[in-house]
Amino acid sequence: MEKNLVNIIKEAGIVGAGGAGFPTHVKIDTNCDYVIVNAAECEPLVRVDQQLMEYKSEEILKALNMVVRHTGAKKGIVGIKAKYKGALHELRKIIKKYPKISIHELGNFYPAGDEQVLVYEILGKIVPEGGIPLGVGTVVLNSETLLNIYHAAEKNLPVTEKYVTVGGEVKNPITLKVPIGVKIKELIGIAGGSQIEDFVVVEGGPMMGNVVEDMDTPITKTTKALIVLERNHPVVVSIEKSLHMTIQQAKTACMHCNLCSEVCPRRLIGHSLEPHKLIRIASYGSTLDKTTPITTAFLCCDCRLCEYACIMDLQPWKVNIALKKKLSEKGIGYVDKKSNLTANEFRNFQRYPLGKLIMQLGIDKYDVKAPLVDKKYEFPSVELLLKQHIGVPTASIVSVGDRVTKGQLIAKVPEGKLGANLYSSIDGVVKLADENKIVIFRV
Ligand code: SF4
Ligand code: SF4
Repeated sequence: MEKNLVNIIKEAGIVGAGGAGFPTHVKIDTNCDYVIVNAAECEPLVRVDQQLMEYKSEEILKALNMVVRHTGAKKGIVGIKAKYKGALHELRKIIKKYPKISIHELGNFYPAGDEQVLVYEILGKIVPEGGIPLGVGTVVLNSETLLNIYHAAEKNLPVTEKYVTVGGEVKNPITLKVPIGVKIKELIGIAGGSQIEDFVVVEGGPMMGNVVEDMDTPITKTTKALIVLERNHPVVVSIEKSLHMTIQQAKTACMHCNLCSEVCPRRLIGHSLEPHKLIRIASYGSTLDKTTPITTAFLCCDCRLCEYACIMDLQPWKVNIALKKKLSEKGIGYVDKKSNLTANEFRNFQRYPLGKLIMQLGIDKYDVKAPLVDKKYEFPSVELLLKQHIGVPTASIVSVGDRVTKGQLIAKVPEGKLGANLYSSIDGVVKLADENKIVIFRV
């Protein structure tokens, strides 16, 4: 079975369920030394991976074992926070069955789930600048991605469902398994509805998420969390602050103190990223340092932690995003990628405590359980986006009026291109099929 694992994963349309949606078949089509399960779930209020590791531990370890065998890895390691006691309890009960698999307990800091931070925490290896974990012989997979691999390899099931935490200002915070393509408002309804009138949703979590205004927006293969917040909540205000405002504020208020760089997780593992220097671009049009080119902005992972270290409430991360965009438009990248790196000697003391961050974000009252309810809900329709992964959009192979069943292939990756197949997530009739989406109504 493992011989064809790449094809099984490719056929099933599996992408990274915890990030940007990189097609998993490409990621595991390699040899490596280590396969790490990213179950750190450091994004505040998100409760998916920690519960999957508890309730689906058997399936996830089986899938991890398959990937370890397929890649020829020496070890598979579950990277999980020590505070996820229920998950650890379940994992310890079954781990003896897998001699190559071990558990690495992580501290409660942010961003423990950043791939490069995770690799350093577990293996003590530093991913070269601008590189990926494979640069140090490692493949990192999210817990839910592994669960999808199990379903594809053992049950012949493609990706049609997604686990999503619904939290914040809802009556009953909850974690649900829902068909891909259902609407945000339907999930908020299952969570008992919003408790406030004027709200928005932060999709993905308060640190790295985006603000969504349209409650008809569909769930995709990468949706992890929907956090309902007041429109004027500090988290929303921070995400929505314009770049112009950020730069104006940086010009007048930045003290060039370097507190943002002190906490930067990529700087702490030894990368040449120093947000306090990059933000000088706003004030002086230069980093004022010949050894720090502005292209080091490409080393930023957009974790946004620098904002919460800054006593002036500035947003170096937003400046970095703008720099990356501008430089990319001009065809300029970061070329001087260093690989012989040493982590900061004070790193262990400078990791940012999650509890402190939650208080700073003003979300402590929402930091509650969101129990996983593995129940089947009926939805009247789904809207399946043709691009919900890294790569090119899938091409629809259905037409308006076609009857489809759950698990039926409805859009394919164009031959030779990077992407992920798409399957119907309910039984129904195709009501719309264009270059962006397929809408299916239940029958
Ligand atoms: S952005 Fe904030 S933390 Fe960074 S150097 Fe300026 S004032 Fe200091
Ligand atoms: S967002 Fe800020 S703290 Fe995070 S990697 Fe980028 S510069 Fe560093």
